[in-house]
Amino acid sequence: MNIGIVGLGLIGGSLAIDLSCNREHQLLGISRRAETCRIAQERGIVHQASTTPELMANADIIFLCTPLGAIEDTVRALVPYLNPKTVLTDVGSVKAPIVQAIAPLWPNFVGGHPMAGTTNAGIDAAIPHLFEGRPYVLTPTPETPPQAIATVASLVEELKSVLHICEPTVHDQAVALISHLPVMVSASLIATCMQEPADTLNLAQQLASSGFRDTSRVGGGNPELGVMMATFNRTEVLRSLKSYRNQLDTLIDYITQQDWPSLEATLTQTQQARPNFVD
Ligand code: NAP
Repeated sequence: MNIGIVGLGLIGGSLAIDLSCNREHQLLGISRRAETCRIAQERGIVHQASTTPELMANADIIFLCTPLGAIEDTVRALVPYLNPKTVLTDVGSVKAPIVQAIAPLWPNFVGGHPMAGTTNAGIDAAIPHLFEGRPYVLTPTPETPPQAIATVASLVEELKSVLHICEPTVHDQAVALISHLPVMVSASLIATCMQEPADTLNLAQQLASSGFRDTSRVGGGNPELGVMMATFNRTEVLRSLKSYRNQLDTLIDYITQQDWPSLEATLTQTQQARPNFVD
C-alpha cells in the first residue's frame, strides 16, 4: 500500500516508523519544513518526502498528522492532487469539528485518534511502538464508506493498537475527561506552585519526586497541543473543568469543616475507581 503521512512530527513520524516495518508499504511523507523532510528520509522513517502536495497523488491512504488547526487547510491543499479512491484519515485529538469540516471536502474520510503520545514534539520525538497496545479510536459517520473504515482499521491492526469505534461527539466528551481535563489540571498544579514565594518554591523544587513527576507530566507538555484541545473541544473542556472545580470545592468544604469521614469516603471511592481507568 502507498501510505501518505502529512505532518512528520511525534505522531506522524511514529506512525511512519511502525507502518514501514511492513515491506509491502511505501511511506510517502509531507511536512512543512524541508529540514524535517530531509531528516525523515535520511533516517529511513519515510521512503520519499516533500514539502509539496503532489507527492500524495499515488497514495492509497493518507494520515493527516498536522496540528489540529492546520488539518482543514491541509486537506484543501491536497484535494486537487488526490485520486478519488484515496482514503483520508486524521489523528487529531478532537473529532466532531474535524469530521464536520473534512467529510464534506472528501467523502472517503474517516476520523481517527490514536490514544498515545509523549510530551515531546517534532520529528526527533518520533519513536517505534508508540501505538502498540494503546486504544485507537475511529469516528465514522453513517455516510462514511465501509471500505474506507476497513482500510484504516486494517492499518490500526498492523500497529497492534486496540480499535474502538464511536461517534465523534461521544469521543470528544470522553477525551475531555481523561485527556484534556488532565492537561488543564496538571498545568494548574505547576502554576499554583509557581505563585509561592521564592524560598518556598525553591525548596519545593528540590523536594519534588515521583508524586509530582506523575501529576505534573501532562501539564509540562506541548503548549500548542493544549491550546488546540481547548479551542476545538471548548464546550466539553469547560464542562469538565467546572465539574472539577465543584469537586475541589467539596474537598475544601470537608477540610475546612474537618469532616474527615467524608474526606476518607471520597478518597476510598477514588482509590477503588482508579483501576477502572488505568492499570
Ligand atoms: P508535532 O510533533 O508538533 O508534529 C506536527 C508536525 O506537523 C510538525 O512536526 C510539523 O512539521 C508539521 N506541520 C505543522 N504544520 C504543518 C502544515 N501546515 N503542513 C504540514 N505539516 C505541518 O505534533 P504531534 O504531537 O505529532 O500532533 C500532531 C497531531 O496529532 C495533532 O492533530 C494532535 O491533536 C494529534 N495527537 C497528538 C498526540 C500527542 O500526545 N502529542 C496524541 C494523539 C494525537 P515541520 O517539522 O515540518 O514543521
